[in-house]
This record gives sequence, structure tokens and C-alpha cells, in this order.
Amino acid sequence: MGEEKKTPFIPDFFRQTLSTFVPEWVKSSKPAPAGEPGGKPLLLKGGHCAIPHQGLIPLDVKIRGTRIELIGENLSDPQALTVDVRGKVVMPGVIDPHVHLGLFTDFDTELVTETRSALLNGVTTLGLYLGGQDSYLDKLDGIISKIENTSFCDIFIHLVILTRRQLEEVPVYSSRYGITSFKTYLCGIPGLIPEVEDDFLLDLMERVSGLGPGATLNIHAENYRIVQRATERLKRAKPFCESLTDWEGSHPAIAEAEAIQRAAFLSRETGARIYVVHVSSEEGIQAARDLKPKTKNLFFETTSPYLTLDLEQDLDLLYKMVPPIRRRKDQKALWQGLADDTLDTIGSDHTPMSSAQKKTSVNLWEVPPGYPAVGTHLPSLLDHAPRNGLPLTKLVEKMCASPATIFGLYPRKGTLLPGSDADLVIVDPSLKKEATPQAAGSRSDYCLHQGKVLKGWPVAVIKSGQWLTPDTLDRARRSLGARYLRRG
Ligand SMILES: [Zn+2]
Repeated sequence: MGEEKKTPFIPDFFRQTLSTFVPEWVKSSKPAPAGEPGGKPLLLKGGHCAIPHQGLIPLDVKIRGTRIELIGENLSDPQALTVDVRGKVVMPGVIDPHVHLGLFTDFDTELVTETRSALLNGVTTLGLYLGGQDSYLDKLDGIISKIENTSFCDIFIHLVILTRRQLEEVPVYSSRYGITSFKTYLCGIPGLIPEVEDDFLLDLMERVSGLGPGATLNIHAENYRIVQRATERLKRAKPFCESLTDWEGSHPAIAEAEAIQRAAFLSRETGARIYVVHVSSEEGIQAARDLKPKTKNLFFETTSPYLTLDLEQDLDLLYKMVPPIRRRKDQKALWQGLADDTLDTIGSDHTPMSSAQKKTSVNLWEVPPGYPAVGTHLPSLLDHAPRNGLPLTKLVEKMCASPATIFGLYPRKGTLLPGSDADLVIVDPSLKKEATPQAAGSRSDYCLHQGKVLKGWPVAVIKSGQWLTPDTLDRARRSLGARYLRRG
């Protein structure tokens, strides 16, 4: 890391509230060499480790190089840089399995700005969707090398499959690039993404299941005819509209429930392993709950915005998304779905947009869907989980271990075990702080929950063994060695 003076990455809130938590080397402005080859080990002492499926346990963590070396009681090592993390929760780095980049601004820019936003806020690994209707074969080498050269986070790729050519190439994407998850849309996004019909869906399921037991087809599950019918009715009645409630009306929950049932039915026919993205409604959850006991290899995701935002809050068109943000009863059903394991994972569906890009129109029907969500993903859930009765360990399971397991990254990612990658987040569960675009750190000039005080924030992030602070983050990007995660 050279001789240059390092300003330690200590957010203001951290300085104010965590005097006992500031490691000596930070106080003296010395760089943290942990994580570098030959560097000293890093020892986190006195914290509570949130270990998925085990609980919240008082344990110390020793990190050497880019891996966790040891977890145990009363660890000591005179050689190590020791950090007192009493009163804090040490959890695995969050895996956000659902992120889009480059849809509204160029990909290269967002690969830097948005992975930075993620890492600042505790998300160390991203599942990135790549879309379009062309073959990916001439693009993937370039994208993977960009990831390894400019990203702050480790990234695995899901490929959107919409055309026959892409479908034929699925085995090549898998063998050449280690891509084992694909996505298709039973309801598209008009003007942006077409939907596929059931014959295509069946062919794609067969193709994906032919790759082997770990390969997964991710499905945007809404019945597009039902959505079209509802949308056309509402548009006729209200050609100019500013209400998110009408947006919710244009995407009826039965469209989601029907498509989930159809997808699960067809997956049983084809043996495909399927993962339904962004379940948003009570009806969707109920369908999922009914299907799970009788369908093998069926997984469900919801998103942090659906768990933390609802139509009873006064939300404007900056919050337009597909599927829509729904009612409080839907949100309650989603929390219940996490508690009873109907839902497996939580993503963010991060689609970075500026407020100007949202406000190209003031008419609901013309506003593009999407919002920046990865920067508020962890804090918004830390804030909402306790009041919805979800234990922290369960939340960590859904945000870390479960996406890692489903997408073939466990136990390297998603947990705290000796040998796992040293990607960790240190959380102060009682820290209250306002959600601001600056804290979220996206290129977007707005953030979800903006102006609200959330309780529970990451206070430090360790990526590939390196203790990161806002000031060292940019310099550290190269040495973080962000990786493209090949699977299968
Ligand atoms: Zn999405």
C-alpha cells in the first residue's frame, strides 16, 4: 500500500459513537496491511458473530490474507492487528443476488459507482443480470475483464435468455464462462424487455436442467395478459395519472400468483430448478407456500424495497417499479414468508436511475421503472426486521447464506467459517442515521427511504481481508482484487 498517508475510512457517525471501536492503527493513521500477502492477520475481538443457521454467538474472528482463518472464543495473536468490536455484530458480507447495471447510464460507469455503493453499505458480492437480445458470446470476455479490473465487489452473472439463438447457446455460456443461472420474463417491460411464451419457457427449462443439478432458471413471474388487461383498463379510465396506487392496480397480484403456479407446474414437467425473482404480493406468497412442499428445487426471492416500502407511505413516482410496491398487507405476508421459509432470499433489484431520468414525464404511464436500492439494502432491512419479528440470524441467512447456496457460492461466500472468503460486515444494530443519497453512495441523486432515520447500520466493511473506510476505498480498489465468480 506504499508510503502515502492514509486517511482512515471512518464515517463521522462512527467517530462520534464508537470511540472504543477505533482500532489503534486507525487512530495513528497507519494503513491496515491485513489482507496483503505477508501482511499481519486481523483479529476482531469481542463482537457477536451472526452465523447463518447457528445463531448470534459471542466469538472472535481471525483473518489472514483474504480468508477467515479461525473463529473461536478468546482468540489471541500478538502479531495480529486487533480490533475491539464489542457491542457490534459481525456478519458475512451481504450477497445481493439481483442487480442491474448499465440500463440507464453506461455499464462501465455503473460498474464502478454502483459496486462502490454496494461495498460501502455491506454488500460484498453481486448477482448481476446481463440482458439484451443478442448473443452474449462476443461480449462476455470483455465484461468479465472489466469486472476484474474495475469492480469493488465480486460478481457472478445471470444471463437473460429471450431469443432462440441465446437459448441454443446456453450450454456454451455454462461451459465457457461458468454461468449456471439464467433468467427469462413471463411478463416483459414494454419498450425494454419482451416476454416469452410457454413453448419457449419449456424449451429453456429443458436446456437449463440439462446443464446439471446446480443450474437454475430465474423467472420474472407475472401473467402478461392479465397485466395488459388491467393496464389498458386503467389507462383508458385515467390517461393521465400520478398515483402509484394505480400502478399497483395495473399489475394485479393474481397475475403474479398465476405465473408462479404455471412456472412451478412446468418445472415439475421438465425437472428444471427454478428461482422466482422479486415476489411482491400476498397472493404470490400464498401460491409459493402451497407449491413448495410438492415441488423440488423451487426457490423464491423478494426484495428489500417490498419489505420496507408500501402504499400507505406517501411515495411518489420515483418509486415506480415492476412489480409495483404494494399494500401493507402484502408487506406483512412477505415478512411472514421469510419467517416460515417460503421465501429463500432477499435481493435489491437495484436499477440505478437519477431523479431526472425518472422524471422524463410526470405521467405514471410514461415514467420508466427502476430505482437505486443496493445502498439502502442492508440498513433498511436492519431497521425493519426487528419490528417485523424476524431474528437477525434469520435475516443474515436470507441475505447471505441462502443466495450463496442457491447460486453455487457456499461456503466460500455467505457464511463465517474458517476458510471462507474474508468478506465481512461489522454492524452497529443500535446506530440511528438518516438515509441520504450520500450515505447510499450510488450515482443516483436520490435514495429509497430518503430523509428517514434508520436504526442499524454497517460501520465497517472487510473485503478480501482488507478493512475498508470511505477514504481508503478508492485506493484499495485494485488491491481488493474483485473477482468474477465462475460457477459450476
Ligand atoms: Zn430485476
